[in-house]
Amino acid sequence: MRHRIAVVGAGPGGLTFARVLRRHGHPVTVLERDPSPAARPPGGTLDLHEGMGQLALDKAGLLAEFRALARPEGQAMRILDAAGNVLRDWRPRPDDRAHPEIDRGQLRDLLLDSVDVQWGRGVTRVVPEGPDGVQVHFTDGRRETFDLVVGADGARSRTRPALSSATPHYTGVTYVETSLDDVDTRHPDLARLIGDGSVAAYGVNRALVAQRNSGGHVKVYAQFRAPLDWHAGLDLADAEAVRSSLLALFDGWATPVLDLLRHGVAFVHRPLCVLPVSHTWSHVPGVTLLGDAAHLMPPLGAGANLAMLEGAELAESLATGPGDPDGVVRAFEEQMWARAGRWAKITAAGLERLVSPDPAEALALFDQVQPS
Ligand SMILES: Cc1cc2nc3c(=O)[nH]c(=O)nc-3n(C[C@H](O)[C@H](O)[C@H](O)COP(=O)(O)OP(=O)(O)OC[C@H]3O[C@@H](n4cnc5c(N)ncnc54)[C@H](O)[C@@H]3O)c2cc1C
Repeated sequence: MRHRIAVVGAGPGGLTFARVLRRHGHPVTVLERDPSPAARPPGGTLDLHEGMGQLALDKAGLLAEFRALARPEGQAMRILDAAGNVLRDWRPRPDDRAHPEIDRGQLRDLLLDSVDVQWGRGVTRVVPEGPDGVQVHFTDGRRETFDLVVGADGARSRTRPALSSATPHYTGVTYVETSLDDVDTRHPDLARLIGDGSVAAYGVNRALVAQRNSGGHVKVYAQFRAPLDWHAGLDLADAEAVRSSLLALFDGWATPVLDLLRHGVAFVHRPLCVLPVSHTWSHVPGVTLLGDAAHLMPPLGAGANLAMLEGAELAESLATGPGDPDGVVRAFEEQMWARAGRWAKITAAGLERLVSPDPAEALALFDQVQPS
């Protein structure tokens, strides 16, 4: 296969795709908008499932390295009500490797180890030009031509318009993210509340979730149903103003739970947007999508797993399959749409139950997916 292949985006999906192609000896150009890997914080922890993210890492030859870094104990989950009563306290068996956690930064460094990324190469447009290939337009005005362009450029993909007119829409649920550093020494009571993995407290149309990352770092997510403009009149850059507004939203909740917000160091607004559940497109030779660019869904543990598995599968099929890359891409798309469509339905229904008028729904969902 002597195709010129580019992947737009050095997230989990794009990097896994590039890593697996490289492993099979095929060159690939990775185009990333961020000026460097350190340009922004990598984000919170990810749980990688055995048959998905871990399978992708196996295809990438990185499973042993992943296991050395991953936190199986991070699968632990404690459920509270708004009054702070512990309703469930689930801990994994010591040999449980079903979906251990890993920091996103650690995962990215693993994948970056053998992949060259062209940093600071923001793509503005991808234009298929039939037999002449696919033109990629960059923010600096330059253009380059490839035979296959894979859009792994996330929720606001600039590759997607070459294939589909779909755009993400707001789910009605917003996350506001904050974090705690050095939790074991600075906030030992909160460290006990969170345990080795996550703690989630559910109330009416609201939830507070805290997830342990490595090194005593914790990400906290205030989750609530609200119109998209819920923050009208609030300066989202003013941490104290956001904190007060969240404490008012969660008024009446138990003090130890609210302390997760009281001690948070900065606040990031993340309104949850999704693509239509069964998002597909008419195949266009030379361009495809994977990961959030193809099927943005609520963040309930599937998105990075799917992106990585798709990246690994597409790369493997291109490298080892029949010598018809377009046929390989068509088959890949059919498989991706079917699997991602199932997950989009599951996660959409999950979000409805987790941030719900009836907090018992969240508990019932937990019991369904995590039987004791
Ligand atoms: C709070 C939260 C928690 C989550 N937890 C989990 C979890 O536990 N497990 C799980 O599986 N998923 C989880 N997810 C979902 C997961 O983060 C995403 O599904 C996953 O990151 C998608 O990977 P991706 O490679 O498709 O896209 P992204 O991770 O979005 O990467 C896209 C890359 O493309 C680059 N890019 C964007 N535009 C351009 C452009 N125009 N030109 C060049 N480069 C560009 C971006 O800078 C980025 O590096 C969570 C999401 C959130 C918000």
